[in-house]
Amino acid sequence: MRATQELYRLQTIDLELDRIRASLESSPLAAAAREAEARVESLQATLADLALARQKLAREVRRLELEAQAARAEQRRAEEELYAGGKSGKELGLLQQRAARAASQAEALETQGLERMEEAERLEAQQAHLQQSLEWAQEEASQRRMAREMELDELRLRQADLEAERVQVWERVPLELRRRYERMRRQMPNPVAAVVRGRCGACHLTLPQGILNRLRADEGLVQCEQCGRLLHLL
Ligand SMILES: [Zn+2]
Repeated sequence: MRATQELYRLQTIDLELDRIRASLESSPLAAAAREAEARVESLQATLADLALARQKLAREVRRLELEAQAARAEQRRAEEELYAGGKSGKELGLLQQRAARAASQAEALETQGLERMEEAERLEAQQAHLQQSLEWAQEEASQRRMAREMELDELRLRQADLEAERVQVWERVPLELRRRYERMRRQMPNPVAAVVRGRCGACHLTLPQGILNRLRADEGLVQCEQCGRLLHLL
């Protein structure tokens, strides 16, 4: 077996562990789950605003109703006095004015009240629509959360397998190579390059025949002249 065989396997494991650690931190599924959660929160905030707006409108409708009732009562009082008799022409005129003013006030308040009620109905419809959207968004968020959790479970299982394998591979790598690999790994993620069709698999330099011959003869460690990586003949 070539000296670099175990080292190359070690690097393959380390690179996959790097990818797993990165995916545990973040992944497209994690981003999708966060996005869905943000949508739920935004819908909840909009619905809370809408509920407040509806409460405010309901209070306003109630206030307008009371004010309209008061204006109608004032109109009735003026009309009763008007028809009670025994009034001078001037008093009758004033009473007529009072009744007319109260009637037009009541009408304006009733119209405003109706407008507010229509607005409240629009808000209610909007709320129902948003409530439905919220339910869908919650369903979506829960599915995405589960998908991310499944991904995390799989990643952790794979990580545990690889870490166990790494312990065994590590034992088989000669001590001096381990140190060199660790030193090089601090500089670059992949210090061992496979030779692919006569080229360095990392920097793609076409390797001189002499180097290829040394690799084939398996005469100790050979480095790429360009990138300095340890070469491994597959
Ligand atoms: Zn190279």
